[in-house]
Amino acid sequence: MTCSGAAATALAAAVLAAGVSAGADDDAIRDLRERHLVVPVQGVDRDALHDSFGDRRDATRRHEALDIPAPRNTPVIAVDDGTVAKLFRSKPGGITIYHYDPSRTYAYYYAHLARYAEGLKAGDTLRRGEIIGYVGTTGNAPPATPHLHFAIFKLAAAARWWEGVAIDPYPVLK
Ligand SMILES: [Zn+2]
Repeated sequence: MTCSGAAATALAAAVLAAGVSAGADDDAIRDLRERHLVVPVQGVDRDALHDSFGDRRDATRRHEALDIPAPRNTPVIAVDDGTVAKLFRSKPGGITIYHYDPSRTYAYYYAHLARYAEGLKAGDTLRRGEIIGYVGTTGNAPPATPHLHFAIFKLAAAARWWEGVAIDPYPVLK
């Protein structure tokens, strides 16, 4: 797909620069698969997903997320139980949500939203399948290509929502 995912990439790059290894991906993917996450866009079948994690965006950056095309305003749903870590607006990601899994091992990241679900706020408890926002094109998504940019980060020990290593969501959800 077409968005840069620069926020996610910058996040992962910062962690890599701090000396955290990205090598344990296979363990994380296995761990996450056991959680049976739901596809984060309502009505989208697993079989319709296309891996876009490794897409090159320029010489130095990878996409490190899964793009899920859907009509504007399609409900975005929580992939897992957990809590809202942060509601965050950024230039590349637009309107975004960081969602901690119940163990705070991972953060799920949803970007380019049209808007949040009514009343959603940091600290809220989330239930898998709950509507948390709506598909849009905020941030650097092309206006004619509404999609959800979805990423998963394995958090650093401090469990800070902005520090983690990007895990490919595709083999987790497929
Ligand atoms: Zn993307």
